[in-house]
Amino acid sequence: MGDTDAPVVGVDLGGTKVLALALAPGVGRDGSLRPGQVLASRRTDTPRGGPAVAEAIVDAIAGAVSALDGELVSGGGAPAAAVGIGAAGLVDLGGVLRFAPNLPGVVDLDLNTELAGRLGRPVVVDNDASCAAWAEHELGAAAGATTSVLVTLGTGIGGGLVVDGVVQRGAFGFAGEPGHMLVDPHGPPCPCGRRGCWERFASGSGLGRLARDAAAAGRADGIVERAGGDAEAVRGEHVTAAASDGDDDARRVLAEFAWWVAVGVANLVDLLDPEVVVVGGGLADAGDLLLDPVREAYAGLVLAHDHRPAARIVAAALGSDAGAVGAALLAGA
Ligand SMILES: [Zn+2]
Repeated sequence: MGDTDAPVVGVDLGGTKVLALALAPGVGRDGSLRPGQVLASRRTDTPRGGPAVAEAIVDAIAGAVSALDGELVSGGGAPAAAVGIGAAGLVDLGGVLRFAPNLPGVVDLDLNTELAGRLGRPVVVDNDASCAAWAEHELGAAAGATTSVLVTLGTGIGGGLVVDGVVQRGAFGFAGEPGHMLVDPHGPPCPCGRRGCWERFASGSGLGRLARDAAAAGRADGIVERAGGDAEAVRGEHVTAAASDGDDDARRVLAEFAWWVAVGVANLVDLLDPEVVVVGGGLADAGDLLLDPVREAYAGLVLAHDHRPAARIVAAALGSDAGAVGAALLAGA
């Protein structure tokens, strides 16, 4: 889209942080992201609340891009040719952020028009997890695959789908929300207003809930100890910490949790038949401690496991930069 000899900027607009980074020209052509190819970055708090929150968000993004431009130019380079934005929420095909549960007060924010006008260059806007999926597909854990799925296991679950080398946006832009696949219509309430969404079971908050249930039944002493002795204070990271120390109760909770992760992964593989399922988000830091039991449970859940090539279930490679990197790649395409 932009001048191919100029950098591109990617912005990850999240519920707490705005991360903007400038990628060197040509990144992605060889399927890797090397040290030094992120030329500059800026991280600020996401403006929250108040009647002018939408304007404040646009200002924050425009300010970050200007700051990066300044850094690029003072380093002897060109300003960014194009800007990609990955936003936490439902982004329609026109680049309007329709609904953003983690950005209170933001509804129908036309990021594309507002920012293209302010910045005077091409802007593309997509969902943050779709951007991250594209980054992992192009430069990260799914490099070389034709079809891949990213699921990010954090407080909730985000996701993105790449089919035959194209990010899937759906008819209206809202494709790729695996966290809200219903896996138990009678399950716990979800912040989305429904019950039993996959993210109620397979996110960090789902893991915390499983662990608190185990604690209430007297089956999680080692986990509760790591939460300062307060069973109500148990969170996902206490489980992974105890499990990595070899605590048997924690391993059992983690195996139960892994089964729930595998339920969603198997559904996604049944639907899309990817070569790779990339697991990102904070819980991916647990690595094979989590992914090995997920792989094991997945084998018993996916359709015809013994009669199909195995989808690889791997940890994400790009960490918390993936959304911004993917947004930049989409802008530079
Ligand atoms: Zn939900």
